[in-house]
Amino acid sequence: MTKFATESAMSPELLAKYEAVIGLEVHAQLLTKTKIFCGCSTRFGDQPNSNTCPVCLGLPGTLPVLNRRVVEMGIRAALALNCTVHEHSRFARKNYFYPDLPKGYQISQYELPLASGGWLEIEHGGKTKRIGITRLHLEEDAGKSLHDGLAQSADKTYVDLNRCGTPLSEIVSEPDMRSPDEAYAYLTTLRQILLYTGVSDCNMEEGSLRCDANVSVRLRGAREFGTKVEVKNLNSFRYLAKALEYEIERHIGVLESGGSISQETRLWNQHAGRTDSMRSKEKAHDYRYFPEPDLLPVHVSSAWRDEVRSTLPELPFAKRARFVSSFGITAYNAEVLTDTQALAAYFESVVKVGAPGKAAANWMQTELLRRLHDSAKEIAASPVAPAALAELVSLVESGKITAAVGKKVFATMFESGRSAAQIVAAEGLGAQVSDAAIEEAARDIIAKNPDNVAKFKSGNEGVFKFFVGRVMRITKGQANPQSVNDILRKLLS
Ligand code: ADP
Ligand code: ZN
Ligand code: MG
Repeated sequence: MTKFATESAMSPELLAKYEAVIGLEVHAQLLTKTKIFCGCSTRFGDQPNSNTCPVCLGLPGTLPVLNRRVVEMGIRAALALNCTVHEHSRFARKNYFYPDLPKGYQISQYELPLASGGWLEIEHGGKTKRIGITRLHLEEDAGKSLHDGLAQSADKTYVDLNRCGTPLSEIVSEPDMRSPDEAYAYLTTLRQILLYTGVSDCNMEEGSLRCDANVSVRLRGAREFGTKVEVKNLNSFRYLAKALEYEIERHIGVLESGGSISQETRLWNQHAGRTDSMRSKEKAHDYRYFPEPDLLPVHVSSAWRDEVRSTLPELPFAKRARFVSSFGITAYNAEVLTDTQALAAYFESVVKVGAPGKAAANWMQTELLRRLHDSAKEIAASPVAPAALAELVSLVESGKITAAVGKKVFATMFESGRSAAQIVAAEGLGAQVSDAAIEEAARDIIAKNPDNVAKFKSGNEGVFKFFVGRVMRITKGQANPQSVNDILRKLLS
């Protein structure tokens, strides 16, 4: 997990006197083709105000109709997050005025959410920790205001209502996190689960994953929570961690100087590296919630719920555990290789056509991922297919080519798309150094280094590597390492 260096001026003693308490509210846009209450497209980036109709524009006399796919995706996410999906839930009206909310209210689930009482597990600092999920509910998104000019002094503001009525799931965590790192790990894990289940593309730049953070501090060991502040405008994982670090120190500073924290909503100002007060926190009653009279309550039968459950994919946590136990790879390897389903599937294909798990994992993690990263390619666009990598791995594993040659062959494979066998044959790389040539090199090195020979004979095993290294150098890395080992052992004993 990423560790963030604190650029803090606050002393470690002071920081350690307090404990942070963090809960996250995450909005994930559900990947449906059409909106939650009408048939308009949810496509991102279309001509402003082109994907609208009387329903999502909130014109009087129109009636919303619930999109079944939205509920299904909500159930999918809820089950993957170990929530109880309720048989009955209900939509409510959350009333407030905003220029990009033409109806004057947002349809959202309130006192009866779709699901509640779940959890996910984060891995942080070598430990696993369970973070509670309070609820998952469904709601519609509002439109978007576009400010022309600087946000504060905009000359003009435009409203794009394409996003009105886009389906969202809001996922509220329990206040179970105790550091910015844990919050980061929670958001990373949540995002991965939502991606695996296919309910959201979680694209933060396009706003399909948004996160608000609630944070408070208390004296370490205290039972009661401190007053919380909500921080919005966290457009990236990095901002989340930085905003939390800033806010935690601000709270400690205020409390240490005898002040008190007021409950409010603040905005992360990335440019200035601080949070600014936006408004004092509104209370639920300010929204005048009441049940939405234009929609029937939502009914999820146990049959429907079970049907959705049966289509859930293997989740990241389970996949990691299986990779470790079935392929004998390390937990770290497994974490890297299950980062996305596409990467995990690639790995399984390489193994399926015969490559040993450990070797496949190592080649992927070092050569393949590095080259994909350098050429800004996704695994799906890899010029080296799983079977082609497996062929290379077996050439190396069987000793037909050395690992060093294998790396060069891989580079050519990646650039040209040719197979390992073709490259090895065309460039004469398969001709490994004969045992006689290895022996000649070994004898030469031994003759020239009597000191090291003496050291080895007096039990210094470490010096053996010196001999191996020299023989490999003379044979230009093309000798079979096993043969080099065997021959040196024979000559030195
Ligand atoms: P509100 O009524 O202000 O919306 P909630 O109790 O619904 O507050 O909690 C909203 C979010 O704030 C949740 O993610 C919750 O875990 C978190 N939270 C609640 N109390 C605290 C606290 N004292 N410190 C930090 N986070 C908190
Ligand atoms: Zn519409
Ligand atoms: Mg709340």
